[in-house]
Amino acid sequence: MSRLVVVSNRVGDLRNPAQTGGLAVAVSEAIKDRGGIWFGWDGNTEDEADRSATIETIGNVQTILHPIASVDYQPFYLGFANSVLWPLFHYRADLVRYQQDYYDAYMRVNEQFADGLIPHLRGDDLVWVHDYHFMPLGAMLRERGCGAKIGFFLHIPFPPPDIFAALPNHQTIMEALLQYDVIGFQTFTDVTNFRRCVEEFTQAEVNGERFRFNGRVSVADRFPIGIDVEAFQKMASSKAEALFSEKFRRNLVADKQMIGVDRLDYSKGIPARFQAFSQMLTRYPELSKTVSFLQIAPPSREDIGAYAEIRDELERLSGTINGTFADFDWTPIRYIHRSVSRDRLAALLRTSQVALVTPMRDGMNLVAKEYVAAQDPEDPGVLVLSRFAGAAEEMPEALLINPFDVDEMADAFNQALNMPIEERRERHEILLQRTRAFDVHTWQERFVACLSDPGAWQTSIKTY
Ligand code: ADP
Repeated sequence: MSRLVVVSNRVGDLRNPAQTGGLAVAVSEAIKDRGGIWFGWDGNTEDEADRSATIETIGNVQTILHPIASVDYQPFYLGFANSVLWPLFHYRADLVRYQQDYYDAYMRVNEQFADGLIPHLRGDDLVWVHDYHFMPLGAMLRERGCGAKIGFFLHIPFPPPDIFAALPNHQTIMEALLQYDVIGFQTFTDVTNFRRCVEEFTQAEVNGERFRFNGRVSVADRFPIGIDVEAFQKMASSKAEALFSEKFRRNLVADKQMIGVDRLDYSKGIPARFQAFSQMLTRYPELSKTVSFLQIAPPSREDIGAYAEIRDELERLSGTINGTFADFDWTPIRYIHRSVSRDRLAALLRTSQVALVTPMRDGMNLVAKEYVAAQDPEDPGVLVLSRFAGAAEEMPEALLINPFDVDEMADAFNQALNMPIEERRERHEILLQRTRAFDVHTWQERFVACLSDPGAWQTSIKTY
């Protein structure tokens, strides 16, 4: 069996994978099965003289933590990755802050990663590169003579050609992506957008989801990522945390709780969600004091202007809404701007009657799946889900909403709060089945199976 070599920005903790969430568990599981390497950044933003890679061997797995020079880190990570690619790939060309030196640093870091990785590779390895930080890495490994199979998985959305064209380097990036044997996406929409970009921006021969460019054949498919359902269910029903949630709920006075859990990111649609909650209280005054809304949003990428702005906006909005509707014994919105432990999060999801997952655009959105897994099947809550989250493709039984339509959202929130138990059970049963079927293990197994034999892979695009 071939070894698996995984490349990602951060390397999970192989000794304690549960701490870093489902993805680290699944990836370390796959590497442990086959033996292999997990290669990524060492997490150090300070320059020390002659820093070299840190290599550690745990059983049949090696972790290699590679340095990034501090002069490159800012323009690579905060610059090109998160001020250019992140907004653009989430259809927010208006937030792109392109600078040539960002792109130069992005290419430099990818070259350094390719140089650092190549001596460790064998011809029969399966190399699996993760996410938008490393799109050109495969092509750079090829330039250095790598003949192994190399696959790429994009965790975020892939935009349509008109948006992708706003990237000055779009053609170089497209041609680099066609150097992978496998290019994996979260959804049909992403695969379709990618194919359209191949047609518009490259000279590749296109045959369905297979592309021939410069003598190499690549296949694109959807590999929707999931969660570790059993592990999350276990956390959600942990006694100590359930007790905490109950106590927290009792302090709220209100009978019902709605919950939102997101990194504080402009793609998550939190301001419109707050507005819709306010609109719901205006339209349905009978809900006053019966429901409170808990939003947990830990800080994220605060060095970038757009993130500081969204933080200010939410503080203003929650203040205004509480100022308008609160009473001596009722706080409508509780907004918590910090991270909470995964056990606590799971218990809070379980004790909330409605989850609001309303991103303007999202690769997948794991919180939607975590909410479903956390529910008591006898008395499950209702998931309100944006049609622009990747998860919506697999979860049509959620209450699907348009996050740009505040009125529609307000009505859907009210409908969720009033949904009869039979309907809640019916919807939840199917959602849970599908969350199990497309869990993080399936995701990892399907990708590795495709990468092992890309020529024989039957793409799922026409069969789902
Ligand atoms: P993204 O990767 O864009 O942040 P996802 O919804 O796909 O969005 O994944 C977010 C992950 O981070 C989920 O597993 C979620 O439970 C976790 N998470 C989000 N907010 C918090 C928080 N406040 N505390 C702890 N974990 C969080």
